[in-house]
Amino acid sequence: MHIVVPDEFKYLYVQDKDRPVIKVPADVLRQEAKPVSKLTKRHSALADNMLRIMRDAHGVGLAAPQIGILERIIVIAPQTKPIVLINPVIIEREGEAIGEEGCLSIPGLYGDVKRAQSVVVEALDRKGRDVTFEMQGMAARVVQHEVDHLDGILFIDKVDPATLHWMHPYEDDERVE
Ligand code: ZN
Repeated sequence: MHIVVPDEFKYLYVQDKDRPVIKVPADVLRQEAKPVSKLTKRHSALADNMLRIMRDAHGVGLAAPQIGILERIIVIAPQTKPIVLINPVIIEREGEAIGEEGCLSIPGLYGDVKRAQSVVVEALDRKGRDVTFEMQGMAARVVQHEVDHLDGILFIDKVDPATLHWMHPYEDDERVE
C-alpha cells in the first residue's frame, strides 16, 4: 500500500536527533533483519537505546530496523515491564482478534489488523538465555507487529483498508507500536 501523508501530518515525519525513529518510505523498513549470532556489549547498548527511544516516542514496541539496524531485536512494553527479545520466533498462534494498530514508523495512521489472539514466543533475553513467553491480547498483538518488522512487513500490509484513518497522536492516550 502506498501511503500519502496529508500535509497536516507531515510534521510527524521529521527525523532528527530527538526523533530517531525511521519513517516510511525508508528502504530499511522493508528489508529482512539478520539473526544475532553472538551477543556482545554492543547489543546490550542497542537494547538500552531502543528502550529509551520507545519510551520517548510513547511507543509500546520497537524493532531494531526502525532505528536502521537490520538485526533481529525487538523491545516491547504493552503493559508490564519492558522486555528485550533477541531472535524472537513465534512458535504457536491461536485464535483471532481484530484490534487497532499504529506504528512509530507511520505516525498518525491507524487501522484495524487481524492477528492471532494468543502466541507463544521463543527468544533470547539480553544475557543470551533462552526465554519463552505466552502472550495474549495486547501483548500478543504488539509482539506480532514487532516480529513482522524484522521481516520487512508493516501493519499497512495487513490492515483492513476500510478502517485506515489519520489522527494526531498522544491526544487521547493512543499508543503506537
Ligand atoms: Zn511498527
